Amino acid sequence: MHELSIIQSVVDTVRDSAQENGIKRVNKVKLVIGKLTMALPDSLQFAFEAVIVDEMFKNAVLEIEEKDITCECRSCRHRFAVDDSYRFICPNCGHDRVDIIGGRELYIDYFEGDEDTNGTS
Ligand SMILES: [Zn+2]
Repeated sequence: MHELSIIQSVVDTVRDSAQENGIKRVNKVKLVIGKLTMALPDSLQFAFEAVIVDEMFKNAVLEIEEKDITCECRSCRHRFAVDDSYRFICPNCGHDRVDIIGGRELYIDYFEGDEDTNGTS
């Protein structure tokens, strides 16, 4: 399952980073995901719930920002977003030679958490 492996690596990355920074509890994870990754937000949420079994992620929420598929026409350099029809044709000049310049994103934008409970936060 595609989404589960994505989430597993996201959670592993956040856990490592949190431990390095002395963060005991993670409250929020913000994930940016391009539509070309074909990962479904609902499935990602579901996978997140399934993966976060430990104390560190007990109250964590996953926020997902989806990025449109963006193309640039090789003929007229017009930039446009491709919708769910996946028509990779320039709406400006009708050319079908386009470069995909966005939509493959898959990264953790940031995560928020609390340091040790007797901290000042
Ligand atoms: Zn064009």
